Amino acid sequence: MTINIILLGPPGAGKGTQARRLVEDRGMVQLSTGDMLRAARSSGTEMGKRVAAVMDRGELVTDDIVIGLIREHLSAGGQGFIFDGFPRTLPQADALGELLAETGMQLDAVIEMQVDDEALVRRITGRFTCGSCGEVYHDETRPTKVPGVCDVCGSDKMVRRADDNADSLKTRLLEYYKKTSPLIGYYYAKDRLTQVDGLAEMDQVAAWIAQALDT
Ligand code: AMP
Repeated sequence: MTINIILLGPPGAGKGTQARRLVEDRGMVQLSTGDMLRAARSSGTEMGKRVAAVMDRGELVTDDIVIGLIREHLSAGGQGFIFDGFPRTLPQADALGELLAETGMQLDAVIEMQVDDEALVRRITGRFTCGSCGEVYHDETRPTKVPGVCDVCGSDKMVRRADDNADSLKTRLLEYYKKTSPLIGYYYAKDRLTQVDGLAEMDQVAAWIAQALDT
């Protein structure tokens, strides 16, 4: 049976890390609108150019753009979809419901990863990823074994996101509280919400998510 889930939480809550695990462990397909937008930027498409400054400031791009991206990717679901960083507004949540219904799919669970703001600032400002395989690291809590070299794939192409700085992070947090956090109530009312402590160990968080998906 295929399972479709949303990972919901502020920037730095660990959504990307947990999504990658679900891809590895269960063969699910990660749909990250942030990754899609960054790909559009680096390949220099018109849309990529339009969203670049908005993303760097930490603001949300328009609903039309991200809904369009999700629509394009909603085939080839493997063992189900993990929506990572989407939806981020109520209109996006409504649109997702309609898109899933059109394609005969359902939304099984919404996992809210709860992390306090102090921890988010620490997590985000030390974060870097492998530019080749996407593994996520942190200067203090999860450095690479050999400085500058990915533990997983051996690449020395480490990248830091342009919006992982204190100013953009403030805007991203504000956007989260103003526009995204209402989704918590929305999915609670739809009986889909599971809340997990995103500050726990990565394996523990993964175990809670697995439990929510398997019950
Ligand atoms: P993320 O990688 O999910 O943190 O997203 C990085 C940036 O891409 C965000 O700060 C927004 O500017 C933009 N973005 C990603 N997903 C969405 C979305 N669902 N709605 C609006 N903007 C988004």
